[in-house]
Amino acid sequence: MNASGGWGRLEHRLDAIARRMRSLEWGDEYRRASFVPYDMEPDQPYVTVDGRRLLMMSSYSYLGLAGDQRVIEAATTAVEHYGTGNHGVRALAGTIPLHEELEAELAAFVGRESALVFTSGYAVNTGVIASMFGPDDTLLVDKTVHASLIDGAKLAGATVIRWRHNDPEHLDRKMHEVQSTGLRVVVVDSVYSMDGDIARLPEIREVADRWGALVMADEAHALGVIGKTGRGIEEHYGRDDLVDVKVGTLSKGIPSMGGWVAGPERLMLFLKYHARPFLFSAALGPAQAGAALEALRILDQEPERVTHIQRESARLRSTLVDAGIDVGQSETAVIPIICGSDGAAYDYAMAVKGAGVIGLPVLTPAVPNNLARLRISVTARHSPADVDLAANAFRLAAYQTHLIAA
Ligand code: PMP
Repeated sequence: MNASGGWGRLEHRLDAIARRMRSLEWGDEYRRASFVPYDMEPDQPYVTVDGRRLLMMSSYSYLGLAGDQRVIEAATTAVEHYGTGNHGVRALAGTIPLHEELEAELAAFVGRESALVFTSGYAVNTGVIASMFGPDDTLLVDKTVHASLIDGAKLAGATVIRWRHNDPEHLDRKMHEVQSTGLRVVVVDSVYSMDGDIARLPEIREVADRWGALVMADEAHALGVIGKTGRGIEEHYGRDDLVDVKVGTLSKGIPSMGGWVAGPERLMLFLKYHARPFLFSAALGPAQAGAALEALRILDQEPERVTHIQRESARLRSTLVDAGIDVGQSETAVIPIICGSDGAAYDYAMAVKGAGVIGLPVLTPAVPNNLARLRISVTARHSPADVDLAANAFRLAAYQTHLIAA
């Protein structure tokens, strides 16, 4: 291969990544920490790693349904009935009745006329934004929204303006900077995945209305987690008029794969023919659709799961705060433990692991400089005793690594 050609330049780029890894003191050890295969116990919040059974405190399976027998049976039945794939895109023989049932029940659950399911939340966010908006439009995005929403805006060719995290006054100021006369779209995550705080949507909606802007909210970490019965941000605020376009995933509280968008019927019809990941990529598989539908029904019938998550996460948060640990602005099941430098977060994660608990470190550039953290989450699978065990481990490790004074 010619080292001065394309391959040479690629090697150069890989070298740069290797140099960056080496510049992090822990090098190989860090790499091992980020891609460790976990042997999971689907019905328990435990994983086995390097022969040790550890309490998992960084799972996204908020509702604790990943190992639920009913969900497993629904996925199995769907596979037995429809096979392992749909051999086609939704528009061309890829649609099965399960898709339509899931869409109808999702729409009803989140309080919208209609819904569509895609093969991932990423596909929804890129596909919906890129098809709905164009170069004349402006997306005003909270600085910490999920990357998929930004990627969608790039694909749309829209102007992107970032406003300070969860700060409606700053959003209002940024509205003055919009040059074009096209659509304005305010984009938020209902619950922020690295901070665990909730979008200040009533005030954000007010700003949006003043400027004639649409509001799009990503409910990925909100469905099943906030609102009395887990219906997300509108239920949390007791309103039904805060969001124009709701999007979400089926891979977190709902333990499957896939994503969804919900809104007016006319919008779903438009997306069916214009959202490219929906139109040009194979349909959601039967197992995923079957599992998602069953999990959604369980969520509807067992709101006590949501209550459990909210109660136990509040209890863990206050224990950590009482111990002097910085949990940022968290108010949901997602609780960051702010450590500072990347090295501090990594050392803390290792100390927590030594105490029998897995908490995954989130480092720059995923979070701002000196705000590296452990991102932990409480699920309906964690018993109060599990939460106490985790709290003790987090406290002990914080002393050991001098995150808090002894
Ligand atoms: N939005 C948010 C806020 C997310 O956290 C994620 C996943 N990390 C996604 C969208 C993408 O969802 P999926 O994994 O289903 O592609």
